[in-house]
Parts: sequence; C-alpha cells; structure tokens
Amino acid sequence: MTTTRRTFLTAVGCTGLLGLGVAQTNGQSEDDLARDSFTLMSGTADATEVHVTTASESGPTALVVGGMHGNENAGYLAAEKIAQWNIERGTLVTIPRANAEAVAADARTASGESDLNRQFPSGSERETELARAIWGVVEEYDPDVVIDLHESIGIYDGDLVGGVGQVIFTSWDESASDDAAAAAQYLNRNYVSRDDYAFSVGAFSSPSNEPSGLFSHKAARDAGADAFLVEVTSKDTEIGKRVQWHTKLVQQLVEEELLTTGGDGNDGDEDGEDDESGGDDEDGGNGDEGDDGSDEQNEPPVAQIQSDAGGRSIERGETVTLDASASEDGDGEIVEYAWDTDGDGAFETDGESTELAPTECGEFRVTLRVTDDAGSVATDNVVISVV
Ligand SMILES: [Zn+2]
Repeated sequence: MTTTRRTFLTAVGCTGLLGLGVAQTNGQSEDDLARDSFTLMSGTADATEVHVTTASESGPTALVVGGMHGNENAGYLAAEKIAQWNIERGTLVTIPRANAEAVAADARTASGESDLNRQFPSGSERETELARAIWGVVEEYDPDVVIDLHESIGIYDGDLVGGVGQVIFTSWDESASDDAAAAAQYLNRNYVSRDDYAFSVGAFSSPSNEPSGLFSHKAARDAGADAFLVEVTSKDTEIGKRVQWHTKLVQQLVEEELLTTGGDGNDGDEDGEDDESGGDDEDGGNGDEGDDGSDEQNEPPVAQIQSDAGGRSIERGETVTLDASASEDGDGEIVEYAWDTDGDGAFETDGESTELAPTECGEFRVTLRVTDDAGSVATDNVVISVV
C-alpha cells in the first residue's frame, strides 16, 4: 500500500524525510484507499494536521482526536498510528494533535490558554478559533463515531474524584454503550493483566453537570454521533502499553463501521497499528479478568509481532527478524502465520518468524496475519524505519 511513498523516499534519498509520514501520500489514490491531509489553523502556533482516509467501499465515518490535552502523550501517539490505518470501508478522519501548541509544550493547555476540552459548549458557539476549527471538521465530515483519546494518572473508581483512567465514557444511546462495553471487555480479556487495571464504562455526565464544554459531549449532543472519551492510565504503565490500549480500543470501537467489509458477515479482524510493548503487565496474569463466558463462540486469536530491532530505526541492508511466537489463541491454536513484508496488502511469506533486509530508505509497514484452528484471523503491524 505504501509503494508509492517508498519510491518517492528512495528517489529523494534517506535524509530529512523520515517523520513526514502520510503527508507524502497527500491526495494519492492507492488501490482501494485514498489518503488526504490538510492543516487547520495554518500559519499559527495552533497549526495541526487533519488526516482523511477514504475506502473505495462506502460506509460510516469515524473521527479520532488526540492531543486535546498536550501532556496526555498516549492519546496523540495512538492517534498518529491510527491515522495510518488501512480501512476496509467508510472514512477515517484523524486529528492527532488537536492542541498542537500544548503538545509541543508537553502541557495540558497551551501557554495562556484555557483548557481546550472545555471549549465546546453544547448548543452554542465554540469559544476559541482553534475550537471552532476543530468543530468545523465535525461539521464537514459529519462523523457517525467520534472518539477523543485522553490519559489519566489514576484509576477510575466510579466518579471523577479518584481518577478517570481505564474508562470509556460513552454517549447514552444503546449502540454506543454496547460498543463501549464490548470494547472494554475485549481489552480486559486480551490486554489487561494486572488487578485493578480493568477498563470500565461510564456514561457522559448530563448537560447540567460539570465538566461542561467537552468535545465528545458536543459531538453526541449537537452532531448526533456515537461519541466516546477514552481515558487510559499512566499509573505505573509504560507509554507503549498506553498507546496499545488506545489503539486496540479504537480498533474495537470502529471495527463494525470501518474495518469489516460490508454485508458478508466477515468479522474482519483487520488490525490497526500495534505497539507490541509488553508494558509492565508481567506481574499480573491471573487469567480470570474479563472472562469469555461464551463457549459456543470461537475466541479469535491475538496476533503479536516482536521485532529484534525494537523500536529503533535500522540501516539499509541490515537484517531484522520479526517473530510471531507471542501470538496466542485462547481457546485453540494458531495454525497459520502469514506475512506482508512489503506493505502491498498481499501476504507473501509464512512461518512463525520472518527475516527481512530492506534495501530502500523510508518507513514501511509489515503485517502479520494469524489464523486459528477455527478459521478466525487477527493481524498485527509494525512500521520499520530504514535510514
Ligand atoms: Zn485529557
């Protein structure tokens, strides 16, 4: 899928292009995806990118926002990964760094500014130019699903006093709260191993209650979206794990809208980006959280790539080994491993591990697809940077 971009990077050379990311694919048509990006508040300290991925198959629209609070790193890092997802249908709009100036300062708010996530009063005008610009994206794309990614330092204890980590706040309608509950259950089963770190679901507060002016509340009330505000916790948790929680939750929340192909009952485990960091969950593993409770249904496998390059960039010609042996199937076994090592969407090699020695500079995505003994599939991705 990224062939064109890789060609472009090679033609220009190695230096100075990494990190430009999907801007390089601006306006390009890939086989079945169109990617575009544009800048809000261009020319100001608030300038920030909006990414739009459109599948050839029509479908719902999802908007994912990160960086509303600039010191909540997992939210914007996850949103940047999500911006690069390949979707099966519909439209994915992302604003990874909603408050770019606050992100740059690693602070909750930009210097001298008030909290951006209090500037979206329901039923009335947004309070600042940046808030109006962000709301303009909602008005333009009319998303069916809106997800705002945040981070907390505590654990949710049922109110907002003890901390709001590990919770999916949801709009009131049944479809949204059902989706939130299913996503929380999936995360708790597959990605939470410590006691007390399980995700909960909470309903948005009513319009008359504090806090008010939240973006996700306005998206539900004024734009009629299924809206979610996701809080992961940074309490004793590494950044890689927090980013994984966000990306996996978003994947669950938009799966039905964007990641499945229409109407054929294929539950398409098309995966987004995953940071395979084990975080610091190794002290848990008591195995009884979440619980499946559904013997009649096959539990899908979990795909997991481990790279011997870790998160670092590799040099041209250097060999990197990708290992899928950490993949699991809770109720059976994995019977097939398949790899797309050149990002073209086709799985050209198999085996539990694979080696590659890239000869071109740039970033490319490797996808692992695992199949369990009941035929369910799951995928994981890593992006390899070659310098
Ligand atoms: Zn926040």
